[in-house]
Amino acid sequence: MIVYLNGEFLPQEEAKVSPTDRGFLFGDGIYEAIPYYKGKPFAFDGHWKRLQDGLGFLRIDFADHDEEKMKKVFDELLNRNNGLQQMTRAMIYLQITRGAPPTRSHVFPVSNGTVVKPTVFATCQEIAYPSPERWTAGFSAALVPDQRWGRVDIKTVNLLANVLAAQEAKDKGADEAIFVTEDDAHLITEGSKANVFGILKDDANGGSKIVTHPLSRQILPGITRNMVVQVARNAGLIVEERAMTRAELTEEAQEVFITSTTTEIKPIVKIDGKVVGDGKAGPMSTKLVALLRSQIEVETGV
Ligand code: PMP
Repeated sequence: MIVYLNGEFLPQEEAKVSPTDRGFLFGDGIYEAIPYYKGKPFAFDGHWKRLQDGLGFLRIDFADHDEEKMKKVFDELLNRNNGLQQMTRAMIYLQITRGAPPTRSHVFPVSNGTVVKPTVFATCQEIAYPSPERWTAGFSAALVPDQRWGRVDIKTVNLLANVLAAQEAKDKGADEAIFVTEDDAHLITEGSKANVFGILKDDANGGSKIVTHPLSRQILPGITRNMVVQVARNAGLIVEERAMTRAELTEEAQEVFITSTTTEIKPIVKIDGKVVGDGKAGPMSTKLVALLRSQIEVETGV
């Protein structure tokens, strides 16, 4: 595996980061995961904008790594890693931390009068996707209290609560974790690594509607979430951006699915042991995957 670290391409085992790196000591950094289909990026602008928003929030100066330069880095990474350029789905992972100062101190580090340079790391991997049969059979989820900090809209490397939630779900035999607020409202925010959608009955027209948490500080503005909302609305489907209650998700939803760069749309057919809808991927999830795939095809040709 060849990775990119601070301007160099090198074998992963030779890529070394200082123990005083702010990412290691404080979780002081952000990351991005960008999908590539046969070497072509999908929704690159959205990923790049979210990255810039994160850098702005953290006040990390990344101005000498512009979009064109980083696109070349990503292309080269895919090229240097055994045919990932040809893979149907691959992911570029990019992480930027506030760098490695000589000593540990909470405030932004300055060394010899200049601001310490950020650490820039990028790697890539194939995205494994379930077979159509596995996808249709669906996946399970466990509900986990949302104990994350107040700015989860920023894609920081502080993923401790997400890690613990994913492990809690695994320990319970579930495939995914879905966060519920700890207050009395018991609202669904998102998954430990994905956004959450429910298909609910629409009393107004007797059909169904797609419901997902609105953009706010309580969820990551998922690029896939945004795409799904967009393709659904373009197809004339009803999308309601509001928080669902735990009861709506577990007792009323006809279908539930999660979205992310690595999973696209993943049907959830069991939550805390209770079957959702008829226990397999439903018609709306199937339709939305088709709509998302055609959008991917328009952009990447794949
Ligand atoms: N929420 C969380 C907490 C995530 O980690 C992810 C995956 N990065 C998402 C949502 C989905 O975001 P995206 O569609 O941009 O991958």
